Amino acid sequence: TKHFAVRKRGRDLLTGTKRSVRAVDDVDLVLRRGRVTALVGESGSGKSTVARLLAQLYPRTGGDIRLHGKSVTVKGGKAFRAYCRQVQMIFQDPFASLNPVHTVRYHLTRALKIHDRAGEDVEQALHDLLTRVQLTPPERYVDKFPHELSGGQRQRVAIARALGADPEALLADEPVSMLDVSIRLGVLNLLRDLKERLHLAILYITHDIASARYFADDTLVMYAGRMVEGGDSETVTQSPAHPYTRLLIESAPDPDRLDPGTGKEPGEVPEEKGAGEPPSLIAPPSGCRFHPRCPAAMQRCETDLPPRFEVDDSPGHWAACWLYDSAVTP
Ligand code: SF4
Ligand code: MG
Repeated sequence: TKHFAVRKRGRDLLTGTKRSVRAVDDVDLVLRRGRVTALVGESGSGKSTVARLLAQLYPRTGGDIRLHGKSVTVKGGKAFRAYCRQVQMIFQDPFASLNPVHTVRYHLTRALKIHDRAGEDVEQALHDLLTRVQLTPPERYVDKFPHELSGGQRQRVAIARALGADPEALLADEPVSMLDVSIRLGVLNLLRDLKERLHLAILYITHDIASARYFADDTLVMYAGRMVEGGDSETVTQSPAHPYTRLLIESAPDPDRLDPGTGKEPGEVPEEKGAGEPPSLIAPPSGCRFHPRCPAAMQRCETDLPPRFEVDDSPGHWAACWLYDSAVTP
């Protein structure tokens, strides 16, 4: 019972429900054009796996991905190729994602060719792509090799390459976490600008819930391969409902800053607070996977897996936690 759907124009862009995959389970997400959706979790929570599944980089053992309502299941088929063009991935490490022996021109031209845009005036297309990512004047960058660029500039080239496919959605896996703190904001602001101007759907994967508040319209929180809370970013970060989300926010050193400020990465829960490590995904805890660390755990949490419950009055805010089971809460 899993489906991801990508539909058009302010509609659902991606929906999914995923079962039987050890790394991620019961994932259900919708990306909408013109919106950034943050997927937040500690390392090992399965958030990168979700991005790679959506990018069709990992085979799925179940479930469904849909683009504009049509299932994209047959590998190599026409729908599959269209999907691979329309949904582009941006990776965490800008140093690894560009081939060091090739120039910016090569990387971008190749992206245009792969996606059948070679018929266009290539020089003009290169100029436009570099301008879009604010590498200006474009002539200064187009013949550079990756090692001649800073990390931030490389990530901009990677974004330009993704835009070369003329996509509808970007899957950005920790796109700024390897960049200097001083330039992270610039890259996030660029992505936000592109979202608005090109009406893109963006999935923003991060371990830093403070940056989700700043950058994303909607936020989903993952724990141990499952989604545990979701809603608009303002609500999820200001009035978190799930005990895990609360812990994550408490552990963020300063929610208004994008930089760690401490030796600990933001969003990584210190051990003394969370009483233990995130669980292994191979043998996850029974019931609610968070129960061994949860300060509010009840008996049923050890045995019964909580479904998604609506939280308070804010529309679309949900938490997979028994505290919100209105059937028993007076
Ligand atoms: Fe805690 Fe129970 Fe809620 Fe899980 S379901 S987060 S253990 S209260
Ligand atoms: Mg990761």
